Amino acid sequence: MIKFLDLKKVTESHGDEIKEAVSRVVDSGWYLQGKEVEKFEKDYADFIGTNECITCANGLDALIWILRAYIELGIMKPGDEVIVPANTYIASILAITENGLVPVLVEPDITTYQIDPDKIEAAITPRTKGVLIVHLYGQCAYTDKIGELCKKYGLKLIEDNAQAHGCKFNGRRTGSLGDAAGHSFYPGKNLGALGDAGAVTTDDQELATAIRALANYGSSRKYVFKYTGRNSRMDEIQAAVLDVKLRHIDEDNARRKEVARMYIEGITNSRIVTPTVKDWDAHVFHIFPILADNRDALHDYLADNGVQTISHYPIPPHKQECYSDWNSWSFPISERIHAQELSLPISPVITDEEVNEVIRLINAWQD
Ligand SMILES: *Cc1c(COP(=O)(O)O)cnc(C)c1O
Repeated sequence: MIKFLDLKKVTESHGDEIKEAVSRVVDSGWYLQGKEVEKFEKDYADFIGTNECITCANGLDALIWILRAYIELGIMKPGDEVIVPANTYIASILAITENGLVPVLVEPDITTYQIDPDKIEAAITPRTKGVLIVHLYGQCAYTDKIGELCKKYGLKLIEDNAQAHGCKFNGRRTGSLGDAAGHSFYPGKNLGALGDAGAVTTDDQELATAIRALANYGSSRKYVFKYTGRNSRMDEIQAAVLDVKLRHIDEDNARRKEVARMYIEGITNSRIVTPTVKDWDAHVFHIFPILADNRDALHDYLADNGVQTISHYPIPPHKQECYSDWNSWSFPISERIHAQELSLPISPVITDEEVNEVIRLINAWQD
């Protein structure tokens, strides 16, 4: 069987270094708030190109803390609006509603699947305080136009970099392009831990200080509480593992791109839409998304032939039960992507033979 993502093999590819790092932490007797987290925060900030990296429990928390810190600092208040793509993983939107802020959904561009820069300005109102872009599937969503709009209207630009570790825009890494960025290190992400973990990167010192406190019970000094925070810390084992994997992220992403090229060049079935890549530096292929009008049939056909695929994501956020007030809204481009998207197996450890087999099966698909 060709797995969608063989995590065991991904871990084994750096297995010796990972086991060495884990046993170092086990033997140290120090498991939280120690030098492994400190080192990873420094190394990840250097990698992304920001002054600050604050680790936390997961990627959703990272986004929640950015917005909560803006509220604590008086830059946003509940009821304010944050612009966000209508087609995203639910976490981007949960982070907004969790803080009592109002998501304003904007359609993506059908060729890039990223928030459409030309549709943002019309969504700005006097209550808009931020734009949360999502580098979906690993492709950079930032454009100069988005940066200029945020400056023009005085909006905070927040990046959801959960799917795009290592991605570059004009030589700068995603996660350093806006005012603050949330990162997830969920095991299946390009930079994945062996459990849950996340981080915020920013150059904003004040924001960083607030987030550091919020993610540690709201405390900046032991037993003194400035905010009603939560326990949202990354542990030493995850930091040690991530520091190992960070050393290999560029080579791992390079292999993802090779696989993506093989798919793009190899898939010739005219019923399949493969991704449009304008800039290979600006895509790290967390996901290899294709569109097919009969997506579910293609999924079943591939499954019958031993290939695992997943849809990211079958139901758009505005059609979810948790946002039942929005269910009548219409975002046709997002709805089309959610209805037609199918993600093919991709990872740093998939073999050429496996990729060629997927290509062969897709080209033979007649439905
Ligand atoms: C994975 C993901 C998150 C959430 O990260 P967790 O670590 O799972 O909480 C947020 N946004 C996007 C786009 C993601 O893909």
